[in-house]
Amino acid sequence: MEVYNLILAITFGIIIGSFLNVVILRVPKHESIVFPASHCPTCKTPLKWWHNIPIISYIFLKGKCAFCGKKISIQYPLIELASGFIVGIVYYKNGFDIYSLMLMASFLSLLVSSIVDLRYKAITYIMNILPITFAIFSSSNILENFTNALLLTGGAVFIRDYVSAFINKEAMGDGDILVFGTMGAILGIKLSLMAIFLGAILALFPSIYNRIAKKDLELPFIPFLSLGLFIVWIFENQFLDIWNKLYA
Ligand SMILES: [Zn+2]
Repeated sequence: MEVYNLILAITFGIIIGSFLNVVILRVPKHESIVFPASHCPTCKTPLKWWHNIPIISYIFLKGKCAFCGKKISIQYPLIELASGFIVGIVYYKNGFDIYSLMLMASFLSLLVSSIVDLRYKAITYIMNILPITFAIFSSSNILENFTNALLLTGGAVFIRDYVSAFINKEAMGDGDILVFGTMGAILGIKLSLMAIFLGAILALFPSIYNRIAKKDLELPFIPFLSLGLFIVWIFENQFLDIWNKLYA
């Protein structure tokens, strides 16, 4: 693999991340993602192009608006970095073809719904269906991916209703359910079970913190499930080894 191609892939990812920032900021407020051009959310001054270079401008401006001096959210460069990492690692692992593009699109749309879930706790239908749709086309076994997506989605509804019946309130939202389906399409059944387990472990401490410190019972689950999926996908061979050792 050419190092230059990898750097190109990461740069491409960072640029997409800068677009995703606009989507995350504007779509939940039902604003256009094209007009008006990028502006400071505080003083509304339109940005010059050199204020708008992903990551570099943030460092150069020391995280402050060039006009009003108000702090720029660290979320912007972090999403750009995360997006660069996603595109870079999919390219590194799977190379570049239509299936890799679908996988990148699935992970990137999960990144968007994770942030929107964290910030607004309200996911739109389109955000629910994009990751799972891309995931179904993320390898050549489309029929198998589709079957696994349906199995995991159905399984999640089954578990949700069981848990909900016991605690007498809705245990999971539709957004969470469809992340299970996305896992199924990308990972297959065995690895999906491990990703769900990992996601639950990742959510455990934030959930306890949320209950005690913020008295908030509703923890957004999409970010943790997505992270579980992404980590298991990166280390899928290692996780399969663990599975095989457990069930040998
Ligand atoms: Zn400003």
